[in-house]
Amino acid sequence: MNKREFLKSTGAIVAGGLISRLAPAQQQPAPHENWAGNITYSTDHVHTPANLDEVREVVKRCSKLRAVGSRHSFNRIADSTQNQISLEHLNQIDIDDKARTVTVGAGIKYGQLAPVIDGRGYALHNLASLPHISVAGAIATATHGSGIHNGNLATEVRALEIVTANGEVIHLSREKDGDQFLGAVVGLGAVGVVTRVTLDLLPTFQVAQTVYQNLNFNELAHNFDAIFGAGYSVSLFTDWQHHQATQVWIKRKLQSGEKHESAAEFYGAKRATEKLHPITGHAAESCTEQMGVAGPWYERLPHFKMNFTPSSGRELQTEYFVPRERGYEAILAVEKLRDQITPHLFVTELRTIAADHLWMSTAYERDSLAIHFTWKPEWDAVKQILPQIEAQLRPFAPRPHWAKLFTLPPELLEAQYARLGDFKALVKQHDPGGKFRNEFLDTNLYAT
Ligand SMILES: Cc1cc2nc3c(=O)[nH]c(=O)nc-3n(C[C@H](O)[C@H](O)[C@H](O)COP(=O)(O)OP(=O)(O)OC[C@H]3O[C@@H](n4cnc5c(N)ncnc54)[C@H](O)[C@@H]3O)c2cc1C
Repeated sequence: MNKREFLKSTGAIVAGGLISRLAPAQQQPAPHENWAGNITYSTDHVHTPANLDEVREVVKRCSKLRAVGSRHSFNRIADSTQNQISLEHLNQIDIDDKARTVTVGAGIKYGQLAPVIDGRGYALHNLASLPHISVAGAIATATHGSGIHNGNLATEVRALEIVTANGEVIHLSREKDGDQFLGAVVGLGAVGVVTRVTLDLLPTFQVAQTVYQNLNFNELAHNFDAIFGAGYSVSLFTDWQHHQATQVWIKRKLQSGEKHESAAEFYGAKRATEKLHPITGHAAESCTEQMGVAGPWYERLPHFKMNFTPSSGRELQTEYFVPRERGYEAILAVEKLRDQITPHLFVTELRTIAADHLWMSTAYERDSLAIHFTWKPEWDAVKQILPQIEAQLRPFAPRPHWAKLFTLPPELLEAQYARLGDFKALVKQHDPGGKFRNEFLDTNLYAT
């Protein structure tokens, strides 16, 4: 399927400037499309202010406005029919050694930030599968990595600077602002335009990544937490066939000076003898180092390297969060659909996320298992399968990833968020006229 057919198949309107998805990651698509090319934004008006004052001017001037980050979301969460604002020019990085924090402009991507803080002896607690995304866009949608003890990326936010609908600048911090802060971090772009983010820093650390092949799912029945807790960050990949994880990626945090040694077997799975891509048949060149070779946290925690196209490139993504303690049951429930799922799937990834207190977080007050699907770009088929997966997961109160594709009805989605009423009140306080509301929010949060 060529790019034009792909866009058609995912319901997007093709508007010129087609760029191959197989191009290197540095080549961004034209600004009116998201990264995957399955969404054509409904406006070409993208404001690119150079500083905070200009952000305030744009916000005051526009009656409708939506912040957009690095455009990696697969649905219309960042869309606007009138104006988008990109913070790409707000790219300063300020490290505070005393407070052990870094404050970044909202345009900064993790891949730009990580080497800078590592050079000063620091690390972030976790990263997503790819470093190409902006910090502000990632926290807005509760983007996560893996690890039983690791909260999602929004949990390392210590403070935010936000321009609210009337152009006012507010500062919210974990220490001082309690509930307001907990409501604003996973803000879904609705609270205001985030201009600066302060993140907690850890001392830098080394990670060694080892991949095992063919873990029988039966092992999860009794060893679920032991398997997902076998490393600092653990991911299982599956194509849902043969009741197994095709690959297990274990990212182990090393103590200073520790030499890494990995066992040849892991619950019956065999250690890989060569570097692998999670999608069978894809070249592993774009993946971070494996085979137990130690390296800095930011070159091991993501699966994909910064200067390569992450994942497949031409794809769609979906993800559901269920309670971790019912994780195995949920996996078995989805497995029943394997013969419908596998033909349209590149790969599924299973990860864990520690519970947090951020109101709109997909891990709000719930240790979670995330069941992720990287789909082939076949939207017509995928949109038939999603309601079936959602029906299978209904007993587990699934929360869909805010930035990925789902078909869960709004009333079921809203029921998953105990603080939704408080979140709406917070949004109303800072945006009484609905300047930052868009169709995605109207449909999913304001329909009932
Ligand atoms: C190949 C690939 C791999 C992925 N892997 C993972 C993964 O491992 N884990 C995971 O959880 N997700 C993953 N994602 C999803 C991705 O993390 C989310 O889509 C994330 O939100 C992308 O950030 P962005 O900067 O591209 O934001 P965008 O998609 O541009 O925007 C997302 C949201 O953030 C808001 N926003 C952006 N900037 C601001 C701002 N300055 N102020 C206020 N709101 C703002 C937007 O309004 C929108 O609501 C992946 C996506 C891709 C394409």
